[in-house]
Amino acid sequence: MADPAECTIKVMCRFRPLNSSEVTRGDKYIPKFQGEDHVVLGSKPFQFDRVFQPNTTQEQVYNACAQKIVKDVLEGYNGTIFAYGQTSSGKTHTMEGNLHDPDGMGIIPRIVQDIFNYIYSMDENLEFHIKVDICLMLLKNISHLKDGAVSHHIFSCPQGCTERFVCSPEEVMDTIDEGKSNRHVAVTNMNEHSSRSHSIFQINVKQENTATEQKLSGKLYLVDLAGSEKVSKTGAEGAVLDEAKNINKSLSSLGNVISALAEGSGYIPYRDSKMTRILQDSLGGNCRTTIVICASPSAYNESETKSTLMFGQRAK
Ligand code: ADP
Ligand code: MG
Repeated sequence: MADPAECTIKVMCRFRPLNSSEVTRGDKYIPKFQGEDHVVLGSKPFQFDRVFQPNTTQEQVYNACAQKIVKDVLEGYNGTIFAYGQTSSGKTHTMEGNLHDPDGMGIIPRIVQDIFNYIYSMDENLEFHIKVDICLMLLKNISHLKDGAVSHHIFSCPQGCTERFVCSPEEVMDTIDEGKSNRHVAVTNMNEHSSRSHSIFQINVKQENTATEQKLSGKLYLVDLAGSEKVSKTGAEGAVLDEAKNINKSLSSLGNVISALAEGSGYIPYRDSKMTRILQDSLGGNCRTTIVICASPSAYNESETKSTLMFGQRAK
């Protein structure tokens, strides 16, 4: 078997602590952790590249999930990090966390800091161009197609996109904050109680050695996916139900692409969803892909947690 450090697709699993409503309800704590890479749910064991227990710090998660990818991007590779899991499982905490607190910062602000620290440490012959792009993909249903079929249509809402050249980590954090308030406006304007969306943060690093004219370019997508919960539990109906189905469909397209990549299949179904089309040049090939699957430890969420772990397992 290949050394996991050499594999292009890594799957990490993070359990958050029980939250206050789970504690108040007296929910049972169900995961049993074994070593650094196993978790048992019920009697079913799951193995991942790493399993993070609820007390794992943001820094430990970053070091295991992202540090290496940053190094690769600075060497001209492309990469993607996804957070997958049901709503409230810790995806945003993992990807963003608290942007303005050194201990609470998630993967994105730490990546940004590392990239700028690297730039500041390089000699002056190297010229860097850093561009960030924050995009929200609202999933909307178009129900008036000719053949009556309900189509899976994702559009990136124009107000939801913020693209910018940046010169410091602070400028990136400002851009993220701005992206968040744009997202709020975009979601409110949707008029359909739509709150589920994929959030994509892209960072491009271009470097040129002005002495040798040698150029290098790397790109990273950091994706906070829409909640993966089943439609039935949300009690949704009408447009919201259609939206939920679309989200589940786009997540399963992503799962199909990743498992085809993991199997080394000759055919990768990138074209099955807008998101996998967008991410195509940063998934597969010699790109680095990491999926962080996020889960609640409560018995109340057991079936969602099980399907989250199965999703992660398919990517192995
Ligand atoms: P999601 O984005 O998957 O819907 P969030 O990241 O917003 O979930 O997490 C839901 C709540 O749980 C937030 O208040 C968050 O701060 C908290 N939380 C999530 N993961 C952790 C963790 N590992 N440690 C402490 N609190 C967490
Ligand atoms: Mg979230």
